[in-house]
Amino acid sequence: MANHLIQELCHATESSQDRVFLETPSGFALTFGDFAMLTARYASALAALGAEPGDRVAAQIEKSPWAIALYLATVRAGAVFVPLNTAYTEAEIAYFLADAAPKIFVCDPARRESLAKAAGKAHVPAIETLGSDGSGSFPGLSQRCAPQPENVCRAPDDLAAILYTSGTTGRSKGAMLTHGNLASNARTLAEIWRFTPEDVLLHALPVDHTHGLFVAINTVLLSGGKIVLMPKFDAGECLALLARATVFMGVPTFYTRLLAHPGLAQEKLAHIRLFVSGSAPLLEETHRAFREKTGHIILERYGMTETNMNTSNPYDGPRRPGSVGLPLPGVSLRIVSPADGSALPQGETGVIEVKGPNVFKGYWRKPDKTAESFRQDGYFITGDLGRIGADGYVCIVGRAKDMIISGGLNIYPKEVEDAINALPGVIESAVFGVPHPDFGEAAAAAVVLAPGASLSEAEVKTALAKNLAKFKVPKRVISTAELPRNTMGKVQKIVLRETYKDLFGAARASS
Ligand code: AMP
Repeated sequence: MANHLIQELCHATESSQDRVFLETPSGFALTFGDFAMLTARYASALAALGAEPGDRVAAQIEKSPWAIALYLATVRAGAVFVPLNTAYTEAEIAYFLADAAPKIFVCDPARRESLAKAAGKAHVPAIETLGSDGSGSFPGLSQRCAPQPENVCRAPDDLAAILYTSGTTGRSKGAMLTHGNLASNARTLAEIWRFTPEDVLLHALPVDHTHGLFVAINTVLLSGGKIVLMPKFDAGECLALLARATVFMGVPTFYTRLLAHPGLAQEKLAHIRLFVSGSAPLLEETHRAFREKTGHIILERYGMTETNMNTSNPYDGPRRPGSVGLPLPGVSLRIVSPADGSALPQGETGVIEVKGPNVFKGYWRKPDKTAESFRQDGYFITGDLGRIGADGYVCIVGRAKDMIISGGLNIYPKEVEDAINALPGVIESAVFGVPHPDFGEAAAAAVVLAPGASLSEAEVKTALAKNLAKFKVPKRVISTAELPRNTMGKVQKIVLRETYKDLFGAARASS
């Protein structure tokens, strides 16, 4: 038996070890051979620290070629990679370490002292450091180790990683992702997006999240292409580096920032073959504006930490603004009633459920949550609301928990947001539910206006009432400079709900 994920990801490049795999903007480069050697040394160092098959290796480290090597070395060592967002505080790290119970914790050298306490409390046996320049105690140890001669055998059903969900309600849960989940999704994406060894991906996403870690890295590694690794997204630098790339993957915010940059020009992007967007809804307006400005039709896809990627707009064939496309080969997707879980007829809006080799094994040490999240027949309840059009294309309407029930009537925020966004002078909006003494819950809208635009609350309401049923028109419209977002560009409705919970003076009455 081999190491399933490593075999799948590295098979294609065994005969091209002298080609460059990873390169940084400043010119540092690793060939596939260098990368194989580095990960073999790191895998040995992990084993020397006591990592055994199935043990967790947690890491809170800056994005760098060495961070990516640590991910693959962990998999080679048969252990389970647990990446943690660099923004997490000491208290948050303490929670994740206690929950994941890793054998080894790797952190940035600058944080070692402050995080040692959390690691000690969680009884983590080994704490090591790895800096964004490849320095630290862990690389030091790896240099004293002979490269691991063979990958540790792992079957498709064994765990390769645990990724914590962004946790908009309650505490984050660890999603257990198997070798088979990651390998099958990488293969599917490489095929449908037509990746080849000639591709160069400009990588601007964080590497502690499914998008930047798996969608980007696994897909390129499997197809033998090259990655240009930006430490973090910056519109100006991104535009300069796109000269070296053939593919770009981003969250919607990257695209709005590129559009706002004066350097965005069609002729500079003519050589790019694919722009992908995901992790949050891409506004139809952004999709259109990018097409007009650059000639490129962004390909939007939909996935989540627990499921990897589920749907994608086609590479050939229409890429529809406002739609996340068609279920990927091998993925079954259905829409069910939020009330009783019964299947809904085509065209109706309900909860999206998915099943396939991409879907995770369950939540780490949370059998109850796992059981609640799956149907008897194996479908995973995503918690996203959507509908399937007559042509099979899927549209996402929001999160089930964001659906507003006002006076007993369902309001889907996305429908109202689309209507607000279409008003002249509006850049974007977020519609959310707040307690209301009479309706139980009422819709409120936070609206971001273009510089110089003026649109009063009454004007927004009057304009909406022309096209929307009265119960869907937000009872309050609040003008705001920007919407609260997390690092993946997702609007944090939980923050809006909390900020405006007393809008109708109802929070205390209802709590
Ligand atoms: P995460 O687990 O952080 O990747 O978040 C997954 C969630 O992001 C999904 O359940 C969706 O709510 C949302 N999401 C991902 N891709 C899209 C997309 N293309 N359009 C709308 N929402 C998306």
